[in-house]
Formats: sequence, C-alpha cells, structure tokens
Amino acid sequence: MDSSKKVLVTRVIPELGIRMLREKGYQVDVLTSEELLPKNVFIDTLRAKPYDAVLCLLTDAIDAAVFDVAPQAKIFANYAVGFNNVDIEEAKKRGIVVTNTPGVLTDSVAEHAMALMLALSCRIVEGDKFTREGKYKGWDPMLLLGTDLKDKTLGILGAGRIGEQLLHHASRGFGMHVIYYDVHRVEFVEKEYGATYYPTVEQVLKESDFVSIHVPLLDSTKHLINAERLSLMKKTAYLVNTSRGPVIDEVALVEALKKGIIKGAGLDVFENEPKLAPGLVDLPSVVLTPHIASATVETRGLMSEMAASNIIEVLEGRKALNPIY
Ligand code: NAD
Repeated sequence: MDSSKKVLVTRVIPELGIRMLREKGYQVDVLTSEELLPKNVFIDTLRAKPYDAVLCLLTDAIDAAVFDVAPQAKIFANYAVGFNNVDIEEAKKRGIVVTNTPGVLTDSVAEHAMALMLALSCRIVEGDKFTREGKYKGWDPMLLLGTDLKDKTLGILGAGRIGEQLLHHASRGFGMHVIYYDVHRVEFVEKEYGATYYPTVEQVLKESDFVSIHVPLLDSTKHLINAERLSLMKKTAYLVNTSRGPVIDEVALVEALKKGIIKGAGLDVFENEPKLAPGLVDLPSVVLTPHIASATVETRGLMSEMAASNIIEVLEGRKALNPIY
C-alpha cells in the first residue's frame, strides 16, 4: 500500500479502475462534475496537489500549460484509444508517459459503425419518428424504401483495429464487397476477407456505396473528407464516421447532403463537439449519435481497468502497458 501517491481522475468513469487504484493505497481524487472540465478548473486542480498521475479524457486538452502545473505527474493515462487531445511532442520532451486504451473498444466501435450503416440502410430513425408521430396508417408498398447491404461496396478508410473488425462484420455477416485505403497495406484483410486495397482515398470514394472512416485524427487526416472529395462519391452513397469529427469538413458535408451530392450520413463524432454544423439536425437522411461508439458497459469497464493498470505500472516503477511513444 502506498498512500503517498496521488492520482487525479478528471471525470467519473466505471468504478473498476478507480477501485484498482484505491486498492493500491493511492489517494484518488475523482472530479464529479457532469459537465466538460473547464481548462482553468483543471489547471487549478492540478496546482492544488502534487499529483503523481492523471487519468484524463479525450475532452481534456493535455498540453504544456497542463504539464507546467503538474511537475510531479509521471503519467497521463488517456481514457481513449485516440490521443489527438495530447501534445505528444511536449510530453516526450519532458519525459512524461502518455498511454491510451487500444483494442478493448474495437468491438464496440465496429458494432456502432455497423449500427449506423444499418440505421441508414433500413431507415430506422426515420421509421421510428414516423411511427411515434402517429403517421403509420397501414402497410404501404412504397413506404420508406431503404437499401440492402448485401452485394454493396463498403469503402473503409483506415484498416487498423476498428476498420478491420468492421470489414469482418460487413463481408462475413452482410455479404458486402470491401475495398479499403490505408497508409499501410494490410495483406491479412485481403487474404482473409477478399478485401481490395486501393492506393488513393479518391478511388475508394468513387466506388463505394458506403464509406466508413477509421483513421486517427492527425494533421494529415484533418478534413480528409472535404467538398472536393465528397463530390467524387456516388449520389446514392452514405458516409459513416466513428473516428474523430475534424476528419470531415462538416460544413461541406451539410452542403453535400442538402444538394444531394451524397445520400446520407451516420455520425458519432463532430468537428466542433458538442456543437453541430448549422443545418445538420434538419437533414432527415442523417443519423446522429453523441460520441458513444465505445459506450458499452463491457468496453467502458475494460477502458477503466486498462487506464488504471497503466498508472499502477508506472507508479510502481515499471513500464507502461500501452505507451503512445
Ligand atoms: P488503429 O491505429 O488501429 O487504426 C488506424 C488506422 O488508420 C491504421 O491502420 C493507420 O495506418 C491508418 N491511417 C493513419 N493515417 C492514415 C491516413 N492518413 N490515411 C489512411 N489511413 C491512415 O486505431 P483504431 O483502434 O482502429 O482506432 C481508430 C480511431 O478511431 C482512433 O484513432 C480514434 O480517434 C477513433 N475512435 C473513436 C471512438 C468513438 O467513440 N467514436 C472510439 C474509439 C476510437
């Protein structure tokens, strides 16, 4: 038991990880606000106690200003696989460990991407609204016609852990043809699922009936989907994004949907979360979820455990399990 170690958890997360930290004897402070943590509150909290570790969220910007007021912190354990909220170069310079939660959320996010595709193809949200509003007056052969997934082409941008799992579901479960673009060719998915590699984003966009995005947010992927690239897509195509909002130029997407350049979109993430681009909510061919692709009881428990394990390893003088660099 080491009661001298202090850990800050920036928001309430599933109990498992917090219990693990407390069982080690650490003093664990959990911020209980139900709202996003304002930067000044975060800074003041870090100034108030010499924390040895911070368990932070993707909504916490972890940058030089944060590192400056937490000189004792050896590790920032990000409760997410994406780490675009952390200034990694600054952490590296200062020798601070940064970890993420890879793998444990792959299934839930791939399932969520599949759910968005199915919601669009089966017009689930439109049908639900129609029924609740009392508009259903009897079976109608022409009511809310959707589209089959079978034999359609799914284009995956970023065939990493999540992209690959979606590729599995779409090809094995739904009989879709899968094409993909990634900065690295993934021969496994070609052999295993008959997926076809395309060397450019443009080629994938031109040929796909559904496009699902699974790249990390980097300088090179910001606005990967812009007006020009949207104009290459089929008029009947759907775009699904469970990666990070800024990967799509959201204003350009709203324009493309309004003008019928593409048919619809399923979005779990937004360019300026929690704000939405003007006009997005008025579009019936869009399905929106509030960044919940990893929000299953199972996954969030595993993320909590993984983030806590990383902190324990580092505070006990061992190597982090999931270091980012
Ligand atoms: P991963 O690292 O396994 O896969 C990312 C893939 O993108 C890799 O194969 C990589 O080579 C590829 N890539 C990188 N830059 C690219 C580019 N410019 N063009 C094309 N491909 C490129 O990551 P993952 O575990 O599959 O997660 C992917 C992303 O999903 C995360 O970075 C995160 O931002 C996002 N995510 C979102 C949620 C959510 O709640 N909506 C949950 C988990 C992850």
